[in-house]
Amino acid sequence: MQRTILRDLLVLLGVFGLIWLVFSLFSYPEDPQLISIHKEEKLGEVYVDLILLNPVFGEFDNSRVDSAVRVIADRLEEGLEDSEYNYHFVVFDSEMINAFTVPGGNILISTGLLAFCDTPEELAAVIAHEMGHVEERHVVSRLIKELGIEILTSGDQYVIGEVSELLTSTSFDRKQEEEADLFAAKLLETASIEPRSLATLFRKLGRRWTMN
Ligand SMILES: [Zn+2]
Repeated sequence: MQRTILRDLLVLLGVFGLIWLVFSLFSYPEDPQLISIHKEEKLGEVYVDLILLNPVFGEFDNSRVDSAVRVIADRLEEGLEDSEYNYHFVVFDSEMINAFTVPGGNILISTGLLAFCDTPEELAAVIAHEMGHVEERHVVSRLIKELGIEILTSGDQYVIGEVSELLTSTSFDRKQEEEADLFAAKLLETASIEPRSLATLFRKLGRRWTMN
């Protein structure tokens, strides 16, 4: 009898051991610290260039729009304490209501989203939310999780192409979205911008939101 229990225990241990082995082989640590900010910025430059080559994300060349975004971004950046990122904003020409972050402090915003914002405060809310994803290093965490650190930093052209696609198509998980919202609310308050603009915008966006 005791021998049967011992055998069952050994089988159970073996099964758990196997599960552990499979997990350790096929899951990657998501720690964003695995990539330095400098390395992240280098990767980000390549991704942005590649994304802008796609006609869907063609750069919108309008200095007035750029400076309007810059004014809002500057005010928010002043509210950031000890940020290690040099932010770079790109407005791309698309009717889609869309904004997303690319590694290295790059934030891409569609003309559709700019048109959708009724007030500068609403645009500030979008930018603050995206800054939240940058500062919490959500993009890098997601890429490490999906690809693994070795593949991500391999410099392989195919991988770079895949990552650029991934950045424009996948979204963050709910916890990361909540973190970005919390970050945005605090940042808006620090920058003396009405934090309620975040809620107003999200209510307006409803299900039309493709921002991630
Ligand atoms: Zn988000």
